[in-house]
Amino acid sequence: MSGNKENRPQKRLFLLLLLASLFTAGALLFGIWRISFAGLAEMGDGLPLIFGAFLGVLFFFIGAGVIGIILIILGFPTMPIFQKTAWSAVNVLFPVVLILGRLFDVNKEKIERSFIAVSNHIVKMRANTISPDRLLILLPHCLQFDECPHKITRDIRNCKSCGRCQIGDLIAIADANRCMIMVATGGTLARKMIRELRPKAVLAVACERDLTTGIQDIFPLPVIGVLNERPFGPCCNTRVDLDKVQTVLDNFLNKN
Ligand code: SF4
Repeated sequence: MSGNKENRPQKRLFLLLLLASLFTAGALLFGIWRISFAGLAEMGDGLPLIFGAFLGVLFFFIGAGVIGIILIILGFPTMPIFQKTAWSAVNVLFPVVLILGRLFDVNKEKIERSFIAVSNHIVKMRANTISPDRLLILLPHCLQFDECPHKITRDIRNCKSCGRCQIGDLIAIADANRCMIMVATGGTLARKMIRELRPKAVLAVACERDLTTGIQDIFPLPVIGVLNERPFGPCCNTRVDLDKVQTVLDNFLNKN
């Protein structure tokens, strides 16, 4: 479960940066209002007030979203609309989180891992169990053995399950659970597959960077991210913990 102790420090980092981002966004919005005040006042008496109200509403929604995320992570029950606002706030503030992380010299990968942990937690709270045939397992090409001649990006069923990489094992897991499974070579192809297959949820395996962008790209579709392992460095003969993949499927799928 995402609420376990191992994940808690990861989530805490993102939440702290998110709170700092909220204050930064508030200060920025106030600064914008102050700078534009004189110019707007010259154009019309009521304009500074209208613009201020607009910025205030914007800040209110972002703030409600951030508080929503914190309540969700702390385990408080929240309404679906609140959860959606929470998720939107994460996406709006994420670039600010990264900038603040850089200012405080926090490792970018650590922030991304924390973001993925928070995202997984929110998805688990929001998603009901789904029919197996509506779940897509999306894999990165780098899981394939780098000398394998078979074109699994065209069709994953071209894999001969020879055992030199985990693609064969993952196909077996997908088949046993009756899910869809595909390999994507990049974000554009992944988005195209998702448009065509119309899954209700995605289990995506990737590195921190690709999972982070992928989760944001295909929002509001729920994505559970499982980080890959890189024993030979990035993008080459990567691996994934198969038990983690199966655990996600067990949590998500309605097998009746
Ligand atoms: S398991 Fe499949 S993809 Fe991996 S090396 Fe063997 S044939 Fe290629």
